[in-house]
Amino acid sequence: MYEQNYLISRLHAASVGQETRNFARIPQRASMTFGELFAGAERMAGALVGCGVQPGDRVAVQVDKTIEAIQLYLGTVMAGGVFLPLNTAYTTPEVAYFLGDATPRVVVCDPAKADAIAKVAGDARILTLDAKGRGSLEEAIVGRGGFTPVSREADDLAAILYTSGTTGRSKGAMLSHKNLASNSETLRDYWQFTKSDVLIHALPIFHTHGLFVATNVALLAGASTEFLSKFDADQILEAMPRATALMGVPTFYTRLLDDPRLDRARAANMRLFISGSAPLLVDTHEKWEERTGHRILERYGMTETNMSTSNPYEGERRAGTVGFPLPGVEARIRNDGQEVPTGDIGVLEVRGDNVFQGYWQMPEKTAEELLPDGWFITGDLSKFDEDGYVTIVGRAKDLVITGGFNVYPKEIESLIDDMEGVLESAVIGVPHPDFGEAVVAVVVADGAELSEKGILDGLAGQLAKFKQPKTVIVLPELPRNTMGKVQKKALREDYAALFA
Ligand code: AMP
Repeated sequence: MYEQNYLISRLHAASVGQETRNFARIPQRASMTFGELFAGAERMAGALVGCGVQPGDRVAVQVDKTIEAIQLYLGTVMAGGVFLPLNTAYTTPEVAYFLGDATPRVVVCDPAKADAIAKVAGDARILTLDAKGRGSLEEAIVGRGGFTPVSREADDLAAILYTSGTTGRSKGAMLSHKNLASNSETLRDYWQFTKSDVLIHALPIFHTHGLFVATNVALLAGASTEFLSKFDADQILEAMPRATALMGVPTFYTRLLDDPRLDRARAANMRLFISGSAPLLVDTHEKWEERTGHRILERYGMTETNMSTSNPYEGERRAGTVGFPLPGVEARIRNDGQEVPTGDIGVLEVRGDNVFQGYWQMPEKTAEELLPDGWFITGDLSKFDEDGYVTIVGRAKDLVITGGFNVYPKEIESLIDDMEGVLESAVIGVPHPDFGEAVVAVVVADGAELSEKGILDGLAGQLAKFKQPKTVIVLPELPRNTMGKVQKKALREDYAALFA
């Protein structure tokens, strides 16, 4: 009875006949079986339709991570709706923009925010869901029975995810049933996920990584999860001996390395550690292998494209690279419309079933980035090496142009990161009266005392003069968002007047 809904039928298929098996083991709560997961999702779909949700209607959701929120995602898609998750960190004025832009039929939020959100939600019906899975949504499903998923085709929308919006307003990336299903099927096979896997699910579910990569891959494989409401080193280390896989952002790995309990014995049952959403330092990669005996598998993707490249499951996982284009994903690197030679830097473009349908109600923006022949311009500067591995050098907009010369931050960051006493660094361009932009290095020490002179001397023999930072700033830590991405925009703003 699920066949007529493209995504749901696929997410459900692996658990048919396995209804009593556990999908999620949840700290301090009862576990949830596959049968309960889908039955609850059906009840939610019924409740949403009861609130007037029609095929194609948006259901906006700003809630803490719970298994009920996963059911709400599935229930929305079953109801033919478009799931629109919002970062829990967004304030009500920020949420107001998304609701005004997406005009959802239903908004589900934390009970504590319901009054404020109701004021900015237009005609939308407000339901609530708290961190324990309680709220008016729960009341709305009481007494509801089974629901036959609404018929949806491959190209119908299943979700809209707003991009983090580092320049200008955030844009709503429209993702179809096929975008999501095809990418997760590819990842399941490429990373060899099966029913025997137990995935530690500790990522947020308002982002492509936790919602689609982690949840969809687990469901498609019929794998079970250690379902954690957020990153918690204690809980992850406690779960690790029962688990087989972890998906994380780089900060998961650096924080776990800080914990002396992480060792080979604890990781003995694990078969796969995956990292993505931000660059993994080579140093983290090496330390992880020393401590656990496992090489982290790094992959690359973005909201608009799902996952595009991955290091191989079998074969060499090359630190500092994001591996090869995934099966079914074409990739090319171009500058000014011309493909660049191997080893040269240009902007990465990708094409395949993974690529989104465009930005919600922004045809001009869509036309700028999604070419008529299906290629999507990612805006990530990158290069291929002779073996075909892709390295991401940084966002095109983070490129520094000083005195007319291009400076790629990653080249300088890699040299600084290799220096004794350095934990990590971020190189930015800030306005400069003579050079247009000046190269500035922001550096975090690894316990030791760091001096500007020491860093500049270390770079002097290795970099052309124009690439050498004009100033080095030492900070206790780099500003990061919840996905572990360094916020270079915030750094540029903080130091905008440095050379004024
Ligand atoms: P988001 O849409 O929030 O997932 O952000 C996507 C962006 O994160 C990409 O365009 C890249 O700039 C960055 N990103 C994702 N994965 C990686 C990775 N493994 N290495 C470097 N950057 C990455």
